[in-house]
Formats: sequence, C-alpha cells, structure tokens
Amino acid sequence: MDSLATKKPLTIRLCGPRGFCAGVDRAIQIVVLALKSYGAPVYVRHEIVHNRYVVEGLQAKGAIFVEELDEIPPEHRHQPVVFSAHGVPKSVPEDARNRNLFYLDATCPLVSKVHKQAMRHQRLGRHVILIGHAGHPEVIGTMGQLPPGSVSLVETVEDAALYQPEDPDNLGFVTQTTLSVDDTAGVIEKLKERFPNLQSPAADSICYATTNRQEAVKQAAPGCDLFVTVGAPNSSNSKRLVEVALKAGARRSILVQRASELNWDEIGPIRTLGLSAGASAPEVVVNEIIEAFKDRFETTIELAEFTIENENFLVNRELRDIELTHQDMAFVNG
Ligand code: SF4
Repeated sequence: MDSLATKKPLTIRLCGPRGFCAGVDRAIQIVVLALKSYGAPVYVRHEIVHNRYVVEGLQAKGAIFVEELDEIPPEHRHQPVVFSAHGVPKSVPEDARNRNLFYLDATCPLVSKVHKQAMRHQRLGRHVILIGHAGHPEVIGTMGQLPPGSVSLVETVEDAALYQPEDPDNLGFVTQTTLSVDDTAGVIEKLKERFPNLQSPAADSICYATTNRQEAVKQAAPGCDLFVTVGAPNSSNSKRLVEVALKAGARRSILVQRASELNWDEIGPIRTLGLSAGASAPEVVVNEIIEAFKDRFETTIELAEFTIENENFLVNRELRDIELTHQDMAFVNG
C-alpha cells in the first residue's frame, strides 16, 4: 500500500444506477420479514438472489438454503419456504402444496410478467421461443410454466440461424430478464429475418434494471483502464455488465465479489476506474471496494448517472403488516 505522499491519482467513475433492483430488494425483504414474523428457521429454495454475501447474511439471521423441497425436514414443514426471485416452474408450488408446506413466492413481478407473456403465446396456439441461457434458474422457471414440447430455448445468433420450428408461421418469443440488450437485439433480428410472422411479447422482457445498469456502464466505460463490476460468477446480469464494459471501451473488465478478490499486482498503475454492481450485489460491498481503492490511490469520484430509479415492489400480502426497520436491512445497505 502506498503512503499518502506517494499515492497516485485515480478517478473512479461510479455508475448509477448500480446494485440492488426492486426485485432483489423485495426478495431479501421477504426472507427478513418471514424470519421476523414466523421465527427461524425460514427455508429458501435456491439462493434467494445470486450473491454469497446476501445468502450468508440471511443464514446468520436464521435462513436455511435448500435446492429442493424434499430437503426440508418433516418437523419443519410448518415453517415457511421462500421461492427465489428468479421464479420457479409450476411444478414447484404444486409440489409444496402436496407436501403441505407453507410457501412464500419471492419471484420478481417482472419475471412473473414474462411467465404470463409466454403463457399468452401458448394460449394463442403459438410455439414459444425463449431467448436465454440454458440452466439459469429463471430459464428453468419460465420453461416450467409451459407444457413439455411447447417451448424451445435459443441462446445465440448462431442458434437462431439454425433453429428449425415445426410451424415457422406460428411462433412467439420472450426473453430472460437479465440478458445483454444489444446481443438479444441481434438474436431477435435473426429470428425475425427467418420467421417474419414471429410474434413479440406485449412488453419488453429484459427488465428496466438490466437496461439501466447496462446503459450506465456504456456511459462510464470508454477510456477506463479498468472496469470493476461487483457481483457473483453465477449472476447473469453482473456477467453482462462485465461484457458491456469491455465492448464499450474499457481496457480491462473484471467481476469481483469482495474487495479481498482484487489482485493489486494485476491492477497495476491505473488512472481511471469504472465501477458498477449487478442487480444482486449489495451497496456495502461497493463501498468496501471504493475504500480498498482509496487506501491505495488518491481518488476522485465522478458519478456516471444514466437515470434515477424509483421502482418499488410490494412484498407478499401475508408480510405487509410487519415493520421493516433500517436495522433489519443494514447487513446489505450499510
Ligand atoms: S434484475 Fe429485473 S427481473 Fe431480475 S429481480 Fe431485478 S428487476 Fe426483477
């Protein structure tokens, strides 16, 4: 670490918006409120949002994370189980009902909206094309809204060029909410070129939070020696921010979960740093990263603010009367 006298100047371009979106905030609130209302343990199926820091913070409060409902011991079946923000296939709530489990669904309302659009296409007799990443829980959840055989996954422009539907005139598409806006436009263009009657969803599937974070990164990244995105390796929207920064002109672009992952030898003598955070990354970790750079550089912070977000999603009806204090959320908001 340099002493004050030898610290080199560093401009940090801090993106806005960054970090938590309304869907992630709501999902974390649901677990916190469920713990307050029903006491520990509260079970959570899959990581509530893709962030270790958040998961560990909730575990410390009494949440237990499971991948499948059969991991919940019978003696705890009256404790709530929360479904993650990514959404679940229809079979999961059905399974919960069959097991007499009490569940709270933390699926982001914007993911539920995509589910409805996919079901609408199918109701109108269209085969559904889902543009997304194979294996992502949101994709599994969206495909699981529809009967087997009625949805096909397309991941890339190459997939779109090769896709062979049974009825090319009767297709509708939706997308995962956290994709790259620009890459997805290319996939849709290729599909529409091949299938001119392809029907769009009634509203964009890529959500406001994904779009806004990518736009702010595009604004901040040109000319940055390094761009740091705070987020987890399994967070789709965080990984897209890393790619967007590189495409927009950052010389290097990396993803880190905590300040301790920063490799100072590799970072070297930078003058301009871009900084953003995926929709599941808490602001306390962004602050931790800023402090780590402040320890080593004489920093100036510039805001690269694309827009201000005011979205706020209500928690489940059962939890609305429980008071949520600043202290309850301090583990993520600082
Ligand atoms: S990234 Fe978008 S879809 Fe996903 S939880 Fe946030 S607001 Fe909802």
